[in-house]
Amino acid sequence: MTQASSYRIAWLPGDGIGRDVTEQALAVLRAVAEASGFALHVDEQLIGGAALDETGVPFPDATCEACLDADAVLLGAVGGPKWDANTGAQRPESGLLQLRKALGAFANLRPVSVPDALADASPLRSEIVAGTDLLIVRELTGGIYFGEPRGRTGDEAYNTMRYSEAEVDRIAEVAFAWARKRRGHVTSVDKANVLVVSQLWRDVVTRVHAERHADLSLEHLYVDNAAMQVVRRPRDFDVIVTGNLFGDILSDLAATLPGSLGLLPSASVGGPVGLFEPVHGSAPDIAGQGKANPIAAILSGAMMLDELGRPEAARAVRHGVEAALAEGYRTADLWREGLTYASTDEMGARIRDHAVQFINQVPA
Ligand code: NAD
Repeated sequence: MTQASSYRIAWLPGDGIGRDVTEQALAVLRAVAEASGFALHVDEQLIGGAALDETGVPFPDATCEACLDADAVLLGAVGGPKWDANTGAQRPESGLLQLRKALGAFANLRPVSVPDALADASPLRSEIVAGTDLLIVRELTGGIYFGEPRGRTGDEAYNTMRYSEAEVDRIAEVAFAWARKRRGHVTSVDKANVLVVSQLWRDVVTRVHAERHADLSLEHLYVDNAAMQVVRRPRDFDVIVTGNLFGDILSDLAATLPGSLGLLPSASVGGPVGLFEPVHGSAPDIAGQGKANPIAAILSGAMMLDELGRPEAARAVRHGVEAALAEGYRTADLWREGLTYASTDEMGARIRDHAVQFINQVPA
């Protein structure tokens, strides 16, 4: 693939710690880009509560245009107590939904890894989680969250879980493509023993595997069993592919494995422009205090670099995170006696230094 020499990033810091952590992510991305010989052009735009305060809407047209015009979107988080009384389209989160819709991303990627240095921060025993490195691929634009008919009549309410073969085929393809770049194993999660829609899901995933990816391995798990196995033997999973509802729940379950929300990145891809954002919210309880962990945002930046076709720069960023953790640097969420306390900015700077050093050490 030919690499571009510059990339346009739409930067949407949003609210609360969204700015604290994405500032650090951008600083790391800029440094890594410079050391690697490519440029980033960053265009800051409003979203969420900050956009409501300034423009009266949570997703202004200018933001939408800038995102669609960019090569990638880096988002912080939206929301906070100031806007909690707002309803409907006046809620900050409505801006996020509008953004996701505008970008049309149908695949949500949530990697969960537990480096050895953090295994003792997990709520699970360290020997169970140490070395976990899994990727959840969640279908994002279909399933029961969007299925029609839906409604409430009298004393009844109903939603519809609906998938077409084409929708399952394209998300399965994303999962197999990632497995090919990773350890070659896909676990497809459904509820095919009860749901007809899951039977179609399973049939299509099986067909995509047989027709296009028979050299990779595939297993199917029912969602209830999958939830148990992710907790019992997380290290055995490589890529997990599942629908919107099951993915929502499983990805939050898996998010508890590393011991802090501040470690978990995400990407939503498949549309014209990818969206990269930490999994956590705006954490108003610690905003602006230097306590936020920037790693989730920084690793979201690494996913962005991968998607932009800059895997070597992405590897440097991930190395930076691992090196800073391995030498004992911890933000407030993970700090304990015997480790080195780092503010949000100090953690970002340490990761940046290691990442740049990594690039400079690799022979050209
Ligand atoms: P949250 O993720 O903001 O915070 C949950 C807890 O985790 C808090 O104690 C917080 O201090 C901690 N935390 C989160 N990120 C951290 C980080 N990087 N470093 C250290 N600690 C971190 O969830 P919440 O408190 O339920 O929601 C707060 C606001 O964020 C609400 O307005 C909610 O609607 C919004 N929210 C936004 C998004 C998003 O923008 N994608 C996602 C979830 C929640």
